[in-house]
Amino acid sequence: MRGIVGGALAVALLAGCTGSTPQPTAPQPARSSHPGTAAPTATSSAHNPASSQSSLSPSMQPTTPAADACSLAPPGRRLPRAIDPESPVLDSAESTPREDSVYPAYGDPSVDVLHYLLDLTWSSPSKRLSGVEHVTLRPTADDTEVALALSSRLRVRDVRLGSRMLPFTHSGDQLRVSLKVKRDKRIQLKIRYSGTPRPVPGPSTRADSERLGLVAEPNGDVWTSQEPYGAFTWYAVNDQPADKALYDIVVRVRGARDSGQVGIANGMLRSCTSGKDGRTTWWQLADPAASYLTALAIGPYAATERTTRRGFPIDLWTRPMDAALLPILVKAPKQLEWLEARLGPYPFASLGIVVTDMDGAMETQTLVTMSSGLPPERAPLVLVHELAHQWYGDLVTPADWRDVWMNEGMALYLQWLYADEFLDEPLDSTLATARAKDAEYRAEAGPPGDYDPTKFALRNVYVSPALMWDALRRKVGDRVFWDVVSAWPRTADGTGTRAELFAFIEKRTGRELSSFFDAWIMGTKTPHA
Ligand SMILES: [Zn+2]
Repeated sequence: MRGIVGGALAVALLAGCTGSTPQPTAPQPARSSHPGTAAPTATSSAHNPASSQSSLSPSMQPTTPAADACSLAPPGRRLPRAIDPESPVLDSAESTPREDSVYPAYGDPSVDVLHYLLDLTWSSPSKRLSGVEHVTLRPTADDTEVALALSSRLRVRDVRLGSRMLPFTHSGDQLRVSLKVKRDKRIQLKIRYSGTPRPVPGPSTRADSERLGLVAEPNGDVWTSQEPYGAFTWYAVNDQPADKALYDIVVRVRGARDSGQVGIANGMLRSCTSGKDGRTTWWQLADPAASYLTALAIGPYAATERTTRRGFPIDLWTRPMDAALLPILVKAPKQLEWLEARLGPYPFASLGIVVTDMDGAMETQTLVTMSSGLPPERAPLVLVHELAHQWYGDLVTPADWRDVWMNEGMALYLQWLYADEFLDEPLDSTLATARAKDAEYRAEAGPPGDYDPTKFALRNVYVSPALMWDALRRKVGDRVFWDVVSAWPRTADGTGTRAELFAFIEKRTGRELSSFFDAWIMGTKTPHA
């Protein structure tokens, strides 16, 4: 998630959802060579690989004019229809929701949402949101109601099952629909709502946690940032990480003809039309995503397209005011290749990056969100950090917020390796600085695996587990380490717990590591190296 500022460490930004990046002072260690393959192999030595890719140079400056969304979309005016609840396409979105141990008030384990079709209309002048939502879900138990989170700022007009109107209550931020449901018998509700969205405060002392959910700027631009919750500020949702779902998001921006505003969301751009009222875009996310990883951005966006060497396109969505960041965003293909060399092929069908007025950055699935205010010297680290999360966080997502360290530790460790390789920040000095601060971070917010719930995503869940990953790499060696690290996200079936991760690592390495993991994740003191 978003940015932590690193105070006395001269730490610069702890990138977006980034952990700290202690500034180096020590001499740089000797390097090994680059494996040069798309995925780690038995012979790859990835401590300091990718030396052959070190040319993130001015030659990568954008050379083509940015493209309007409607010039990139497939031709036609198609919009999605409500999906058949029995469609086998939805099987991949079946999850095992659970009551979250840190934030039990968010999410309902009796609901497993499979698909959200959000047809959203945003009135830019009035900052009013209207939604027609088809939510397809699998009850996990026989029940007499279905509960979803939806902000009380949004008034529900009606809820239907087919043509049948259903009684409901909407109290606080809870929408409760009266309906007898059977376990595993899929249903589809149609919910119509409208209102003026407001963000909610987050459970953290981080400055960038003051506003979670949908934020409307005075000019009618919109951005979202919602870790660990907040999607309920713009749609009815089972707002917990264990319940992943597929998405179709239609964004109709109205009153924006002269502003050039257009809606950007996760996934593939399936259609775009431009009329006298404004633009309508349809985005489709074909891989299951947790609600904290969805994103909506509305503004005068145009895309600069870049491709990796294998021809995979990355769309960089910026506004005229974001021009200074574009020379950094165009590094994304090289960064993605650098990550693929360690983590295996990029796991999703599309990738974009959108710049908004948020603080920091966020690893929103297939659409990384970056702040327009990121200092250019730190932005490359923020970008590689958020891209690393596409594997650690998005492909495999913690089933419970207690394990957010599984996201941040690996993203920060890869960020450190990248800084060592490309930004003259030697890993050894970064590690030494981080190690010197680790006990302080544990004291500040608790052990990474048992943090204070009012101190979400502080440095303890970044720095301590990043140090643990380095300790593990030194313990098992580069070949085994990268084998494990690249295999876990692909093997984990969407969500994972620490118990599953630790069992996976022990099995794959053939080592008994319980005391090692326990000391690093649950200890109040820094373990011995
Ligand atoms: Zn992060």
